[in-house]
Amino acid sequence: MNIILLGPPGAGKGTQARILVEGRNMVQLSTGDMLREARTSGTEMGKIVADVMDRGDLVTDEIVIGLIREKLAGGDAGGGFIFDGFPRTLAQADALGALLDDLGQTLDAVIEMRVDDDVLVGRITARSTCGACGEVYNDQTKPIPADGKCSNCGGTEFKRRADDNEDSLRTRLMAYYKQTSPLIGYYYAKGALTSVDGLGEIDDVAAAVAKALD
Ligand code: AMP
Repeated sequence: MNIILLGPPGAGKGTQARILVEGRNMVQLSTGDMLREARTSGTEMGKIVADVMDRGDLVTDEIVIGLIREKLAGGDAGGGFIFDGFPRTLAQADALGALLDDLGQTLDAVIEMRVDDDVLVGRITARSTCGACGEVYNDQTKPIPADGKCSNCGGTEFKRRADDNEDSLRTRLMAYYKQTSPLIGYYYAKGALTSVDGLGEIDDVAAAVAKALD
């Protein structure tokens, strides 16, 4: 089963993807994570995308489609792929359809995670992740444990993303509404879309996602 998690920054796509990876042995393909990795390892592509990402704009379709093409060609699909943060434009959506066709694979569900814009700003400016395993924390709703150790792996280093600030978030939200939200209609028309309320507790949202998939 291959699925897309669709929603604005802070909707909880990464958190839900991690739950699906653990519970269903699915493979998370996050273009945001791939681009951050390229930056950390200092590749040419990482240098090209750094400014664009810090501003909160989208990097080119060519770059992200290339990243996904590589992963699809080389990777073990396990229980299926979770596309997290991809596609973000209509051109990317068309390209994903073609790539899956070429591999004889299907896109089985697109889950739209709906969240109020006001909530997004609060979530994003409060979030951090474990530097070792990527577990997501939130100062208000899921604080880092009092002993300073990640509840998932025991790691003690936590990071905040450079683009998780209010200025960059405004740009990211604008990019979402201008370039990504048309995908809701696109996948609805293809009969693939299910919308879930992304506002609740993590477990409740996970249950709604599971219901949509089963
Ligand atoms: P994310 O971790 O999904 O929030 O992505 C972080 C940043 O990486 C975005 O603000 C964009 O600059 C870039 N990015 C990630 N995925 C894509 C994509 N599919 N298309 C264009 N830019 C992307």
